[in-house]
Amino acid sequence: MKRLTLTADTVGPVGRGHPWVYHDGVHGKAEVGEGVELLDTRGKRVAYGIFDEGTIAVRVLGRDVLPIPELLRARLKLAWSRRALVAGDTDTFRVCNGEGDGLGGLVVDRYGEVLVVRLYSKAWERHLGTIVDVLMPMTGARTVFRRFGVGRVDDKQGGETLRGPEPADVVVVKEHGMKLLVRVREGQKTGLFLDQREHRRLIREWASERVVVNLFSYNGGFSVAAALGGAKRVTSVDVAEAAIADARENFRLNGLDPSAHAFVATDAFTYVAEPSDLVIVDPPSLTHAAKADTAARAAYKSLHRHVATYATDLVATSSCTARLTGERWEEAVREGLGGGWASMHRSGEPVDHPVAIAHPEGRYLKFALYGRLGR
Ligand code: SAH
Repeated sequence: MKRLTLTADTVGPVGRGHPWVYHDGVHGKAEVGEGVELLDTRGKRVAYGIFDEGTIAVRVLGRDVLPIPELLRARLKLAWSRRALVAGDTDTFRVCNGEGDGLGGLVVDRYGEVLVVRLYSKAWERHLGTIVDVLMPMTGARTVFRRFGVGRVDDKQGGETLRGPEPADVVVVKEHGMKLLVRVREGQKTGLFLDQREHRRLIREWASERVVVNLFSYNGGFSVAAALGGAKRVTSVDVAEAAIADARENFRLNGLDPSAHAFVATDAFTYVAEPSDLVIVDPPSLTHAAKADTAARAAYKSLHRHVATYATDLVATSSCTARLTGERWEEAVREGLGGGWASMHRSGEPVDHPVAIAHPEGRYLKFALYGRLGR
């Protein structure tokens, strides 16, 4: 086992549980995917981790030294035991959320009988065999599919089946009883935005008897939830034609007539809707660059200023921009909406998206409901 020495100012954060060691925070090298002991400048063990490549040199895994396969088994088992907390008639959720499950850089999502693995760290690549060995019997999955498309790891389209039969092009899953189609080979991320599950359920409750507009609808998860909840009419808006086509299909899958609703493939930033009782706003991450957070704030502000021109009652809005704190995001939203609104609800990640408390960067999801005050 390699023993690597941390720089003096890295010892503190790592000792407090931060899951990343940058390449200038450690002396020495190991093979990518190799377990390494991390020592302080006096040679005392501070933590144990797995060697990575690129900006993050080591993913910190804990204090105790364990062979990586054993550690994977223990952590995945623990994560799986907690997925019992995901309530309702639901067969789709995140099985492993990277740092939040003590396995930085490893994401596993469950879509019914299909598990989709996505690596945000090259370190796990040589352990994929172990990962599949642990996951299959534990979850009862039929297929484990690896999805590519993360810049520094596997920057290409599509994916490959790691074990089991090839997954169907379209898998149908259930989320709180609502059916959704998933394209594990080509859908965004691993197929669905699973982090919004509980928020889609809230929308189902809030949409009753309302005229609803769902901006950045993707394949219509929020839209179907609103329609199932008794919305009068739901308009789904997304710039991607393919997402809009899938949204229509998702209405049909749930026994809803798409012709009673509207589907518009256009830019949501400029789309002018009819006066609407509930507007749902869930844009893609508007920035990745630290310096661009002013640009992201400006974008959120102008978007909400525009939404306020046709939102007559409720605005349910969300952000997945990790670079913006909840406070700064809400500030931008409030400035955009203008005065005369009340904040009614705030929430973030669901139970299957845990965030390590020593890793606040992992907290990214924000969701809020605003209601227009009487004039
Ligand atoms: N609310 C969705 C997830 C939204 S993801 C859900 O619950 O599943 C963001 C979506 O915004 C993507 O589908 C992307 O195609 C779309 N998008 C990106 N830029 C856009 C724009 N300018 N106008 C409309 N849609 C846009």
